[in-house]
Amino acid sequence: MAKTRDFGGGCGSAADDDGAGPRPVATVDHARIERAVREILAAVGEDPDREGLQETPARVARMYAEMFSGLRQDPRVHLGKAFTEKYDEIVLVRDIAFNSVCEHHLLPFMGHAHIGYLPNGRVLGLSKLARLVEVVSHRPQVQERMTEQIADLLVDDLGAKGVAVVVEATHTCMTIRGVRKPGSMCVTSAMKGVFRSNVSSRAEVLSLIFGHRSG
Ligand SMILES: [Zn+2]
Repeated sequence: MAKTRDFGGGCGSAADDDGAGPRPVATVDHARIERAVREILAAVGEDPDREGLQETPARVARMYAEMFSGLRQDPRVHLGKAFTEKYDEIVLVRDIAFNSVCEHHLLPFMGHAHIGYLPNGRVLGLSKLARLVEVVSHRPQVQERMTEQIADLLVDDLGAKGVAVVVEATHTCMTIRGVRKPGSMCVTSAMKGVFRSNVSSRAEVLSLIFGHRSG
């Protein structure tokens, strides 16, 4: 049985004034996830019917629906809320926390995104940048692509003259399995427009992102 679920999490568009959050554009097949999780449990030698595991498939289905809720949302909805403003200096939001899921292992990676852009007559409400990160991260992802997607959206839909996105994350597929390197941090960046073509603009935005750090 497919259920229509609502994973609002408070996306603040005008249409959400009832507090219900965004309407999903498609549904998640919870029953199908539950069957698959039972299969995995059986395949690793567990008994899916023992007491402690009975509710697990349904729980995992709800969890996946939440973690992948970005698949059913269009991040451009938030970019559509831009407003006209004569401001032509860098706008920067640092330390936007996010959780995502690495598409190679289906294990979480989490960290912070820093987004700077140089407006071209239109600016975005600061919380909308966080919404953007939220939608793009709640999908099966690789960090490199997520970084590029955020930057491309700001160039294509906001028309920013320059965009700088830096993402720093810890990947549990590196820390709890495989090479097991706890504490390792993966840093990716995407520079567009003037932040790509102009060395001093790039230096300025990077100093805004990293300048406060000592050592
Ligand atoms: Zn991975």
